[in-house]
Amino acid sequence: MSRLPIVVILGRPNVGKSTLVNRIVRAKAAVTNEEAGVTRDRRQFDAEWAGTQFHVMDTGGWEQRPQERLTADIREQAEIAVSGADVVVFVADATTEVTDDDVGVARILQKSGIPYLLVANKSDSPAVESSLTHLWGLGLGAPIPISALHGRNTGDFLDQVVALLPDEVEGDADPDVIASLAIIGRPNVGKSTLLNRLAGEERVLVSDVPGTTRDPINEIVTIDGEYFEVIDTAGIKRRTKITDDVDYYSVLRAHDVVKQSDVVLFIIDGQRGATHQEQRLAEEIARAGDGLIIILNKWDELTEDQRLETEDSVADRLAFVSWAPVLRMSALTGARSHRLPKYIRTVLENRRRHIPAPEVNKLVRELQEAHPPPVRKGRRPKILYAVQAETDPPTFVLFVRGGELGPDYIRFIENRLRDRYDFTGTPIRVRTRNRH
Ligand code: GDP
Ligand code: GDP
Repeated sequence: MSRLPIVVILGRPNVGKSTLVNRIVRAKAAVTNEEAGVTRDRRQFDAEWAGTQFHVMDTGGWEQRPQERLTADIREQAEIAVSGADVVVFVADATTEVTDDDVGVARILQKSGIPYLLVANKSDSPAVESSLTHLWGLGLGAPIPISALHGRNTGDFLDQVVALLPDEVEGDADPDVIASLAIIGRPNVGKSTLLNRLAGEERVLVSDVPGTTRDPINEIVTIDGEYFEVIDTAGIKRRTKITDDVDYYSVLRAHDVVKQSDVVLFIIDGQRGATHQEQRLAEEIARAGDGLIIILNKWDELTEDQRLETEDSVADRLAFVSWAPVLRMSALTGARSHRLPKYIRTVLENRRRHIPAPEVNKLVRELQEAHPPPVRKGRRPKILYAVQAETDPPTFVLFVRGGELGPDYIRFIENRLRDRYDFTGTPIRVRTRNRH
């Protein structure tokens, strides 16, 4: 059974949700009112854009309680609204400040794993559009400026909504999987053995013959009561040594897998250590923005010298991902494998960490005062404002005037962010945008 996808409109009262719904369904169906909180019930309407049909659901928005932080009530309303959605449109008012409730609901939305768009409504003019800095701090990515009332930019916005819609929606989805893990490493490092250990029973063929497991196999495993999708892969061989087609596809698949996963369990054979090949793979994982846990496997059968050599190779080749935790373990005997779930949870938590805009801003201001950015091409750049614009992985945006920050300075900021907050196991990104 398939059904039409559902687009849920979320946002606090008076930001223009009903106006937007009216604009989308092109009829005066939802009630619009200046008084906050008039649209109480959730209502669903049929809509169509560029030949794609969907339902759009208006939510009442949550009551504002300025004194308290996110209350259980608001949390519940937001969770219910989001749970039935295929795409969520978070509507914010371009002309007012964000509240703690907005930030709290943004976190719920982002944790839900449901695709979303952030809309800056009431962007009636280019002037309003150029002052949306406060909305970046919600951590939901770049705000899309629209005016629901005047129809400004709403076509582009609907294009983006339609692009996020799934083709067909099954009546029943599997909403419980909280993250996707990939097990990556060369053939024979112990990937299948680790998957069996995580899954708790023999499900994958384990063999001494390199390359027995050829295709990625997705398994749902329960780790401490939570569901994870685990993607097993056939490993990566040196590209230059790829001789037959099957190996070639295995390599391509492993690259795809990196793109699909939230956290990579990167297994290195303790007997071989990290080589140039591991270095390349780690670069790719970091570039894809995945969380990373380095597993030095087969620790059970290593001599003390081998252990030291392997440690050295990791310190040497993988220094650029020194933020990744390293677990020395044995997939075969299970020694220390009980630590893995905790590592995974920590990495997921750190990837989803969101630092409130005032805090980021204060830290960056202090850093800038103590260590001003160096003069480049005769100009000294100044960071006007800094926010965390995204999570998964944490992405910070520095709004800069008067020239460019060099890569060294950006790295300096990144390192200080890591000193201040726990981002163990996740890459973080620091981007700049010019302001004139
Ligand atoms: P809701 O409570 O979020 O559903 O908000 P409404 O749709 O009822 O809108 C609240 C008020 O904001 C109404 O007076 C709308 O006319 C006004 N409004 C909605 N969209 C816009 C917009 O794009 N620009 C301006 N200037 N006002 C808007
Ligand atoms: P894959 O090709 O990466 O999936 O590797 P497998 O899981 O098939 O393991 C390859 C071989 O290494 C098998 O003989 C495993 O029993 C062995 N192996 C896997 N993990 C360990 C380990 O922690 N210690 C030892 N000594 N052998 C292991």
